[in-house]
Amino acid sequence: MVVDLPGPRSTRVRVVDGVSFDVPRATTVGLIGESGSGKTMTARAILGLPPEGATLAGRLLWHGEDLLAADPERRRAVRGREIAMIFQDPLAALNPTQRIGRQIGEIPRRDGLPRAEVRRRVVALLDRAGVPEPERRMRAHPHELSGGLRQRAMIATALAGEPALLLADEPTTALDVTVQSRILRLLAHIQAADGLAMLLVSHDLRVVSHVAQQVVVMYAGRVCERGPARDVLRHPAHPYTAALVRSVPAVRTSTAPADPLPGAPATPSARPTGCAFHPRCPLARARCRDETPQVRETARGRWSACHFSEEVPGS
Ligand code: SF4
Repeated sequence: MVVDLPGPRSTRVRVVDGVSFDVPRATTVGLIGESGSGKTMTARAILGLPPEGATLAGRLLWHGEDLLAADPERRRAVRGREIAMIFQDPLAALNPTQRIGRQIGEIPRRDGLPRAEVRRRVVALLDRAGVPEPERRMRAHPHELSGGLRQRAMIATALAGEPALLLADEPTTALDVTVQSRILRLLAHIQAADGLAMLLVSHDLRVVSHVAQQVVVMYAGRVCERGPARDVLRHPAHPYTAALVRSVPAVRTSTAPADPLPGAPATPSARPTGCAFHPRCPLARARCRDETPQVRETARGRWSACHFSEEVPGS
């Protein structure tokens, strides 16, 4: 998939460039990378809600159907039902003027269910999302709830359409640490219980290492590595993944101190030639500046976009 955004002086900036991966049923895939890597844009494109002025190309296969080629009505029908999203900031995503219960009940109401049944479903969804006293809380407006309860209300809203794919974009970033782990446990429980496919977008490797079975690592709008989470995080086959892992003490396998990532992330509007990571890469050489590495299978189920992946320490 490719996503272009309007740039300065009528140019187009490619913010997602040839990104390709699967999110299998009953699996959590962690989509990781620094800010500006294109991970949120990828999730929004999957949901069918790219920013104003964006153009999408390529294919977005949903049970064999290409949603990018589907008509707008079909895409609207999939959004919020078969594919739902939990946003980073529930205060911005929820309607501030509507009671929580009304927002969660939107899909059952659209389905023409009787009022009492809609109410029963809303209470059950809030209860499932771990909101205490759901009958009372459903009458609250978003600003009347704590950050953690708001995020739970958003999870209930996302579940209302009984989605098969849940997109969670930095779902715990705005919360304090104790609430973060409870929300993550809740999401992991719902994903496993319902056999959902879940794409967890996060800049936080610790979050992803706890929840995801597969990971996709993005840099400057492209995939640089993907594979089983445990293998990728223990034995990275791309210098960028290795640097990310070294920068986070909790996911390291050695006891050496954490090592911050060198340099600043490349931006899609000023992407270096060849491998976009080359200005920051300790293994870079002339070929890396001239030739863009393609994603290739380096071992069974492991994919890396590095000319010299076999030289990555610990790979
Ligand atoms: Fe580093 Fe070259 Fe591999 Fe890019 S292709 S990650 S610059 S070694």
